[in-house]
Amino acid sequence: MKNSLFVTLTMFLFSVSVCSCSAAESQDIVKTTRANPETPISCGTDGAWLQVLGSGGPEINDKRASSAYLIWLNGESRILVDAGSGAAYNFEQAGGDFSTIDTILLTHLHVDHSADLPAFIKGSYFIQRSNHLPIVGPDGNSTMPATDEYIQRLFNETSGAYKYLGDYLEDSDKQSDYKVSAIVYQSAFKTKDNKINISATPVTHGPIPALAWRLDIGNKSIVFSGDMGRGDESFINLLKNTDYFVAHNAIPQSATGFVRNLHMAPDRIGEYAKAGNVKNLIISHRMNRTLGKEVQTLEEINKTYTGPVSFANDLDCFELK
Ligand SMILES: [Zn+2]
Repeated sequence: MKNSLFVTLTMFLFSVSVCSCSAAESQDIVKTTRANPETPISCGTDGAWLQVLGSGGPEINDKRASSAYLIWLNGESRILVDAGSGAAYNFEQAGGDFSTIDTILLTHLHVDHSADLPAFIKGSYFIQRSNHLPIVGPDGNSTMPATDEYIQRLFNETSGAYKYLGDYLEDSDKQSDYKVSAIVYQSAFKTKDNKINISATPVTHGPIPALAWRLDIGNKSIVFSGDMGRGDESFINLLKNTDYFVAHNAIPQSATGFVRNLHMAPDRIGEYAKAGNVKNLIISHRMNRTLGKEVQTLEEINKTYTGPVSFANDLDCFELK
């Protein structure tokens, strides 16, 4: 019943900080009361860390921000993966510095993964940022725009919804502190300092173009499933021997029908974690239909995967060690 207590406690997300620094076991997650609201809920200043900025889905009654993750390296906030609603606020709560963000990676363009993108770009006006910002995401289809088209629709200086921010686009001749380039993912790339290798592979999220991302930082690695119903062999290869697998669990085991083409049920997450020989599993994108079912979820996962499993909450820190 520890998990029930655990879930109850997480209802106080915005007044209580949560740290699962080793992710040893879900039951071992340590909670600390936030002494001062002015103090950021930050991860360690040495090494690589994952901070969960948003552990929820699109719901507005789950007491969670939507999908977003921040990678810290030696005390610098370096990479954002997804930017769902609430991401910008929790970035602030985490003490993130947008001027050091190398790139924003988008798993797909659903609202709960992208809605705060304009908030970050507008917010950056008020800080000192001078370095180029690539935003990298999936290609489009008849259902969704490609990432570059999406960014144009938001910010294009003549036709964008937020055309007043058009100066930031790299194709604008107007002066801005830095430029944004929108890129459809093609192949693996590195951050400018060569410290982080970034790769992705397409996964099936119903009809929506979607990517799973992998970051290799030194000899440590982390994979983000994003939202996906299933992946092919390239996904298993992406997952292979990763230290952390952040798996989105939007549906319970009992879910049937089309939704299983959109999201992984717990048993499938376990199968992938086992097939990829992942060392630690983090369950995120938690929704009302899965919250409170952690014991059953864990049982299903454990049918194949027996490594450590953590259930993510907003602002959790996981050291990549
Ligand atoms: Zn989602």
